[in-house]
Amino acid sequence: MQHSDETQRAARREAARLDAESVRGVALTWVDNAGLTRVKAIPTGRLAHVAGRGVGMSPVFDVYLVDDSITTSPHVGGPDGDLRLVPDLERLTVLAAQPGWAWAPVDRYDQEGRPYAACQRLFARRMARRAADRGIELRMGFETEWVVQRDGTCPWTGPAYGMARVVELSDYVDEVLGALGAQGVEVLQIHPEYAAGQFEVSVAPADPVGAADLAVLVRETVRAVSLRHGLTALFGPVVEAGGVGNGGHLHLSLWREGRNLCRGGDGPFGMTGDSESFLAGVLGALPALLAIGAPTPASYLRLEPSRWAGVFQCWGLENREAALRFITGAPDDPDGANAEVKCFDAAANPYLVTGAVIAAGLAGLEAGARLPAPVQGDPAVTGGAAVPGGATGAGAAGGEATGGTGEPRTGTGTARREAGTGPARLPRSLPEALEHFESSEVLREALGDALFEAIAAVRRAESELFAGRAPQQIADATRGRY
Ligand code: GLU
Ligand code: MG
Repeated sequence: MQHSDETQRAARREAARLDAESVRGVALTWVDNAGLTRVKAIPTGRLAHVAGRGVGMSPVFDVYLVDDSITTSPHVGGPDGDLRLVPDLERLTVLAAQPGWAWAPVDRYDQEGRPYAACQRLFARRMARRAADRGIELRMGFETEWVVQRDGTCPWTGPAYGMARVVELSDYVDEVLGALGAQGVEVLQIHPEYAAGQFEVSVAPADPVGAADLAVLVRETVRAVSLRHGLTALFGPVVEAGGVGNGGHLHLSLWREGRNLCRGGDGPFGMTGDSESFLAGVLGALPALLAIGAPTPASYLRLEPSRWAGVFQCWGLENREAALRFITGAPDDPDGANAEVKCFDAAANPYLVTGAVIAAGLAGLEAGARLPAPVQGDPAVTGGAAVPGGATGAGAAGGEATGGTGEPRTGTGTARREAGTGPARLPRSLPEALEHFESSEVLREALGDALFEAIAAVRRAESELFAGRAPQQIADATRGRY
């Protein structure tokens, strides 16, 4: 915990600024293992005190489920104990769609001021630092998808990706842009998505912790603007069972000394060896990572083929049906080269996502993992034909960091898959993903026992909570919770 005089002075300056802007309350948020953003709010006048000492909150929230019921894990549970939530003042933001309010994310410490072992944001920070120790900086960005409804229905008729939807909800979309802009969030694009009333906004990349903070800020901003328009924003993985869901795709690129390692190399589609190894680590770990990125039974209702949700454990150039989509960047924006993990959804805790993806990627780097051949087309339709000449992988390293698809690897990059051997489907259920998660030594080591076990306990409990329920019941129970 930072008790320094400088922190106190900065907090007093910020409090004065907030006061001048008629801000009365500061919402201090963190995201639990179920993916829900929890809050303690303080009056602006308490900011300097809280910046030093933190504000209390029980550790039991680490084992809360999506319906606010509570489970236990070996390290967390029960009514005892307390933690200190310490706001990150560098992210303090006056909320444009909530007059009178500001927001800051928190790190969590124990009462002695030591980092709390199960703090998700500190975990993400630790992993970013681990990458930095290897000279690698990650730039990341989450896409936010949501469905708007009025009184429980979608009265708008505008088609998928249609201008009509933007016209129908013109003031609303304008205010979303306005509020994000006023908060200093750089929006890259906003558009109607496939499902009725569905939108997506994507924002400029940031460091891993910053990207997760932005995911929270963007979502709460969209929620607030929606309410001001008499609308409800639904961020759950599925709104209508059997329909296209809300993804929470993660874009990432690796940088060293200001250079984007996703381009300018002699690996597949120009990626450097480091970039290839990192992505191979992520690809190989996807079955286990799903327990982080697709954390609730509703996630598996979304994870269906041919919905751009990326349910196959493969990668491809601009392939929206591959779990890992590689993007080379436009000729006029070569720095835009990046990879997108598509199988994750908006129920995921973004801090766990960024941290766990870094852990998996670094394991790939460590192992010198290589990517399998890229896949073109929708594996559900084509069986997943590999692209000749795309991959240059010289055989896969063993263990968790390999592609893990059971695919033949190639030393020449020209091999085609045998007929009928498409890429593997990612886990089809939360228990299946949990099994992979629980046998991942990489994730256990990175998360630490306390956080690892709390996540596993929440996943187990949510599996039990929804066992035997019909898909639409699961959708109804979760779509408005996140
Ligand atoms: N809504 C889709 C999903 O569930 C993603 C659509 C897109 O590619 O942006 O992931
Ligand atoms: Mg989208």
